[in-house]
Amino acid sequence: MSDGSKEFLNGHQELMPEEHFRFACHPGVSCFGACCSALDLMLTPYDTLRLRHTTGQTSHKFIRLFATLLAMPEVGLPMLHMRMLADARHLCPFSREAGCAVYPDRPSACRTYPLGRATQRDAEGLAQERIFMAREAHCHGFDAGTDFNAGAWMHDQGLEPYNSANDRYMALAEDLRAFTTLTGQHMGQKQLGMAGLALYQPDEFQPFLERSGLLERLDLTPARKDEVLHDEEACLDFGYDWLELSLMGHDEHLRPKG
Ligand code: SF4
Ligand code: SF4
Repeated sequence: MSDGSKEFLNGHQELMPEEHFRFACHPGVSCFGACCSALDLMLTPYDTLRLRHTTGQTSHKFIRLFATLLAMPEVGLPMLHMRMLADARHLCPFSREAGCAVYPDRPSACRTYPLGRATQRDAEGLAQERIFMAREAHCHGFDAGTDFNAGAWMHDQGLEPYNSANDRYMALAEDLRAFTTLTGQHMGQKQLGMAGLALYQPDEFQPFLERSGLLERLDLTPARKDEVLHDEEACLDFGYDWLELSLMGHDEHLRPKG
């Protein structure tokens, strides 16, 4: 794999859509669990929502138990990372002898591995994805296994809802970066707090929306209002629309009433 025409991201080679690879990961591989420690594992808002639901935690408790709150470089947008255990191996808190304790709801980075995914928007604002292959020495999953290309792997790992939700997070970050460069305006503490609530704490954002009457001031159908207040995925989607409007005045997805 030394084709000089392909590009690298963090040392990983780009995988073309038609390119195939073989991979298998199961309790029978000699390295089973070797990749679940000492990780710098970002949790997107959608990752966090899925993990919270499978662990039955409120957002407040989940963040206290399992995450570290950071700010996205240059943008300042709130960003969670999984907090590894303080043991000698720095294991992921969900790593068990038998495997991942949250497997059906594991974060996007765990699902995507050994691939990596980067997106950039084209002139029409659509996310264009590029896929990279991480061949790490400790991973023996390449020794045998099923034949995949990138699309088949993404489908097999249930990544479609993750990728589409995560693309909104990355698009918001990209827009904020451009907005800050253009205007010189940075988010204040109050705006950062509201962004954290909208992105990572839909269970607390929903009662805030009820109390504040914010939804009444926006052009929303009664059906969408009801969904936003009772379905956390719909609330997260609304959160992106509302942050685009309130932080940058972008009203493609949401408008003030009248
Ligand atoms: S969430 Fe699961 S798959 Fe991801 S690092 Fe933790 S134990 Fe491993
Ligand atoms: S190192 Fe590779 S093959 Fe081994 S458990 Fe992790 S992903 Fe699976």
